[in-house]
Order: sequence, then C-alpha cells, then structure tokens
Amino acid sequence: MKTSMRIFTILNIPIELDISFLILLLFIYALAILTIIPLQLAVLITLVFATVLIHELSHSYVAQHYGVDIERIVLLPIGGVAQMGKIPKNPNQEILIAIAGPLTNIIIAGISYITYLLLLPIISGFISSFIAEFALVNIVLALFNLLPAFPMDGGRVLRAFLAKKMDYVKATELSVSVGKIFAIIMATAGIFVNFFLILIALFIYIGAEQEYKTTMISSLLGGIKVKNIMTSDVKTISPQIGVDEALEKMFKYKHMGYPVIEKEELKGIVTFHDLSQVTKENKKVKVANVMSKTLITTSPSEEVIVALEKLTKNDLGRLPVIYDGKLVGIISKTDIIKIMNLMKNKAR
Ligand SMILES: [Zn+2]
Repeated sequence: MKTSMRIFTILNIPIELDISFLILLLFIYALAILTIIPLQLAVLITLVFATVLIHELSHSYVAQHYGVDIERIVLLPIGGVAQMGKIPKNPNQEILIAIAGPLTNIIIAGISYITYLLLLPIISGFISSFIAEFALVNIVLALFNLLPAFPMDGGRVLRAFLAKKMDYVKATELSVSVGKIFAIIMATAGIFVNFFLILIALFIYIGAEQEYKTTMISSLLGGIKVKNIMTSDVKTISPQIGVDEALEKMFKYKHMGYPVIEKEELKGIVTFHDLSQVTKENKKVKVANVMSKTLITTSPSEEVIVALEKLTKNDLGRLPVIYDGKLVGIISKTDIIKIMNLMKNKAR
C-alpha cells in the first residue's frame, strides 16, 4: 500500500510526504491553534522538516553528480529518506555523498547564527531567539547524523574510511559492529539519563542490522548473473495431467515448484502448496486449473540481485528463466541463499 503522496519535484527528484508526517504536522498546528504549544514551536518544527528535506537533497545532489539515480525523497516523522540506486563503491565518493547532508546543516546553522548576531541589536528578542534556536537545532542535527553508526551518515563515512584499508564486506561488518556497540552504550546511558536515548539506540541498532543485510546481499551477489547459478535441466509439468500425477512427479524429483509447459510455451507455475490445497475427491483436476498463471520471469543475463528482489517483492520461491520466448532454466530462492553462503565463506 502506498502511504505517501507526491508534493513536488526538485532536481528531477519527486518529493513525497508520508501520511503519518501530514497527520503529525496537522496535529502540531492543532495544538498551536488551541494554544497548548506556542505557535513559535510549531513554526520551528516545520522549518526543521524543511531543513531535513534540504539535508536529503544535498545527499541526492552529490550522488546525482556521481551518476546515482535518485528514485524519490520521502519525508517521515522520524526524518527524511532519499531512496537511491546503487551507491558507488568508491570510498571517496561515498564519503562526499554522506558528508553533504550534515555539512549543509552546519552551513545553515552558520548562516542562521550570523543572521542572529546581525539582527540582535535591531529586532525583538522574540525573533532573534527563534533564529538562535533554529541554528542550534541544525547543529544538533549535524552532530546526530555524524554519529559513527549505521543508519546515520557517520556510519557511512566510517565504512568508507575503513574500505580504503580493507575489503568492502569486512569494512561493513566492522562499522556495523561499531554502530551496535555505540547503540548498546547509548541505551545503557539512556537508563540513567533520558528514556529517549533508548529509543534512538534501538533505531540505530535495527538500522545497523538492516544495513548489514543489504550490503552483504549486494556485495556477495554483485556481478553474478542468473545464468551463472540457474538450473538448466528443468523438470516441467504439462497442464493437462491430473493433480495426483503431478504430486507423484513432485515426490519423485523432490522439487517444490515446477514450470507448466505446453508446446514449448510457459503457461504457468505450479507449486507443492498449490497441489496440496486440492481435496482428495478432486485429485483428477487438471494442473491447468490449479497453477498460478501470473508469470514473473527473469532472463539469463539479469543480475541475481534483481531476481532476488523480484522473488522477495512478490513472495515467490522460484522464477522461470526465459530466453527468446523459451524456458531455459529455473532459479530458486534456495539457490540464491546457497550461493550467498558460499560467497560468504569464500570472503573470510
Ligand atoms: Zn543524511
């Protein structure tokens, strides 16, 4: 389900607001109108979100410069997320992309502080204190993002520095560990200082774990094509045979899913799960009636990581491999996981 709406486009990047973000903003302004919180605070929060957007745009701008595709920027109550294509594994470029965000916050803080000093003698204390607060918030945002822990920008900078000295996967492992230790220390401090720290620590810990997984997957599978690991000797099933016969075949070959082929053409895919749904009395029903006809396929030259995305996104166990309109192989999630484990052991 799509929970965000597009508001405008900058630098060819669609900017989207998450629904929860809209609700939060409305809630804040409702509180301000009811004079539960000062209007000044509501405006400050809005400006902070604008800053978060500028922060993400800075990352995106530098990333675009290095040829990275930016799919969109989504604003959430916890901050912004720039969804990017593959970030170059060039440490120097990665550092520049990561540092651009916090650097922008420091520049905004600097400009606000100078404005504060210049306006101090001429305008009311109310507006100048507002500008000073805004400068302070930007410093806090910059420092927070520079924490050397994933998913913060500082975590990426740390990994890039480490990647100059060691293998990319090892650099990721090490910086993820640093991030987790950091989160544990933060959570422990939170017990004594402020409960909010525990929440941030949890956010960092989960983010570190996620970064570890995605980086591992993309670096372990990077460059491997479907044709390198697919099974070419595919066992297929005819749509015209009965469910009972198909089940017999499954027990014989011990695979859980089969492409359904008629006259060399792929008609569907049938899994053990589909067949086991059929009741005993209906076992003579044809495979054509129980197979899944929505076909999501891959090709021999497709990257395995793309095939894995298709599997995960559609909650599938296997994809038929099609070349020139013909079935040339099959690739399963189990095959991909096996290859990942193999590459992992090789990397050690
Ligand atoms: Zn950032």
